Amino acid sequence: MSNFFETSIEFLKGVGPQRAALLQKELKIFSFGDLIQHYPFRYEDRTRFYAIKEIDDAMPYVQVKGKFTDFEIVGARHKKRLIGYFTDGKNEMEMVWFQRIEWVMQKIKPNVEYVAFGKPTRFGSKINIAHPEVEPVTENNLKGNSFQPVYAITETLRKRHIDSRLISKFQHELIKLAEPHIRETLPEFLLRQHHLLNKNDALKNIHFPKVQESLLAAQHRLKFEELFYIQLRLIKMKLVRQDKFKGLIFNDASILTRFYKEHLPFELTEAQKRVIREIYTDLKSGKQMSRLLQGDVGSGKTIVAFICMLLVIGGEAQATLMAPTEILAQQHFTSLKKFADKMDISIALLTGSVKKSQRKPIHEELQNGKLKILIGTHALLEEEVKFKNLGLAIIDEQHRFGVAQRSKLWQKNTEVYPHMLVMTATPIPRTLAMTLYGDLEISVIDELPKGRKPIITTHQFDSQRLKVNGFIRSQINSGRQIYVVYPLIEESEKLDLKHLMDGYESMSRSFPDVAISIVHGQMKSEAKEFEMKRFVKGETKIMVATTVIEVGVDVPNASVMVIESAERFGLSQLHQLRGRVGRGAEQSYCILMTGVKLGADTKTRIETMVRTNNGFEIAETDLKLRGPGDLMGTQQSGALDLLIADLSKDGQILQQARESAVAILTQDPNLENPQHAVIKAQVRSLRKTVVNWSRIS
Ligand code: ADP
Ligand code: MG
Repeated sequence: MSNFFETSIEFLKGVGPQRAALLQKELKIFSFGDLIQHYPFRYEDRTRFYAIKEIDDAMPYVQVKGKFTDFEIVGARHKKRLIGYFTDGKNEMEMVWFQRIEWVMQKIKPNVEYVAFGKPTRFGSKINIAHPEVEPVTENNLKGNSFQPVYAITETLRKRHIDSRLISKFQHELIKLAEPHIRETLPEFLLRQHHLLNKNDALKNIHFPKVQESLLAAQHRLKFEELFYIQLRLIKMKLVRQDKFKGLIFNDASILTRFYKEHLPFELTEAQKRVIREIYTDLKSGKQMSRLLQGDVGSGKTIVAFICMLLVIGGEAQATLMAPTEILAQQHFTSLKKFADKMDISIALLTGSVKKSQRKPIHEELQNGKLKILIGTHALLEEEVKFKNLGLAIIDEQHRFGVAQRSKLWQKNTEVYPHMLVMTATPIPRTLAMTLYGDLEISVIDELPKGRKPIITTHQFDSQRLKVNGFIRSQINSGRQIYVVYPLIEESEKLDLKHLMDGYESMSRSFPDVAISIVHGQMKSEAKEFEMKRFVKGETKIMVATTVIEVGVDVPNASVMVIESAERFGLSQLHQLRGRVGRGAEQSYCILMTGVKLGADTKTRIETMVRTNNGFEIAETDLKLRGPGDLMGTQQSGALDLLIADLSKDGQILQQARESAVAILTQDPNLENPQHAVIKAQVRSLRKTVVNWSRIS
């Protein structure tokens, strides 16, 4: 029966081999099943006619019925446009054309009844529709009978005459054939419990909804299903791991007493203490820990990492920390070494640039157990890196690593897997965390160390540079240091570098008596390091740099972060950069420089930065602006390639789906209960179709 959905798309009426090849290439639609799951991404509401009075610019697409009373051409040349004054008998609005004006004037006559359709926009105080679809009233369109689905297509498809309408035709054809083959994929009790539409109706209504309610019901059902099976898989992995993967037991915390008494440089925050307790509970449990530690920049994750390492080292095992870049690994090494030295614990750094001759002793001491802590980049994953007894593996900045790498590190111990702690400085919105790390336990440091003054963030236009320079001067005079950051993206690298150099020169002119450092990605790493060090030592007062300093060295004396062309940075990146200041006791500032013309999204980004220092709030906003895939980068966007659910909007459905999945698996881990047979069958069939599902083997 399920074979029906595996039928090649080629065999659908009207498709054939050529179109099939195009659909495969452009949309990855291979089979009937793929097509039926190619859901519309929006709908045109043809179910009703709106009164002009009701229309506002927040509406997606609207349909109005009425007559044109007059036409007028305004503006000249490329600003020329045709305005049609359109009335529904009570109120008037404007329809606007910028192109094909002659053609429109020939075709559309005044005082004839038309149906007009399009997206309302606001133009000053007026609402208009640009380039509406206009058709004379006929019996057919008067009925105003449906939502018309709009399907995603590509430019290539459009050129080859495969448009949304044609896809809609294919869907129509397919739905007719498919009906007898559609089987329910959620158990009866879940449908009832969550008031979900059955699968058959859901599929019909997602493609061809008659009314708004049935569209919403269809969307809700399909989103729930999608999220439910993702959660089910994650929770299953978690249960399997808890069940199968034994963990080394570390239940002696006496080593901490000495560290706390003699070497802890500050009082831990409540959040840090709580997280350490959570981790210690895992370490004692006899099961492998798999935990995500989230904490905003500056929340003090490093010391937490070290304390966890201590617990493991106290139990005669080793610990490792993997960072995504050399510079970050170096920084971790430097800060951890300070603590390690005090406790007489041997620590080493292993990155790609460590020479062969230096590697040998590291390899040896790892194997004989003399070396207790190894910090590094993915060089840690190489075969030769063998531990005597790895107790804890910490991964920093997880989202830059692939999932495969995570499990590779994991397998460094063959008998008992090491405990795993994944740290991220980029707060991840709940919905994303539940989806990407739904198989992990989650700890959050949601408190900054005491005495930190919140960073004051302002937005300044480029025209206010003199004022900004005056402020920089006053900060330098009171002994502070300044970062000035420029964007540098690969696509426009040359131009960006020029801006950076121009900026450097202009700073040098404005501050002729001040020592200025410059650092960018094109410099040799020794030169970079040299400049960084000068800045760290306070020999230079201003650091002009590209985003390399995003993960750079910690300079508590730096109190001002000026971000040039701030409109070109993503929200999370701006927040990340801002985290470079505010590390000392002084009041710190972040100044976002932009041009005058800003798009709506940019305005939101800037306003958000000015309003809040809370990384979680920023991450939520970023998710809404950019969508989950972009937010997490390409590495893991695969896991976020959802067919219909939207993690920026469907948090509530996700929560319900997760709770259901937890309840079901806790009660019946192997889905043996006949009530769960439907789920079991669906899990099997999903496993067949989705290849890269195995995050853990
Ligand atoms: P992140 O979470 O960004 O890695 P770090 O671990 O680098 O943060 O900590 C930022 C700074 O705060 C460091 O200089 C660190 O020594 C300091 N710090 C960490 N915890 C505390 C605390 N409880 N009280 C005071 N300062 C702290
Ligand atoms: Mg850190």
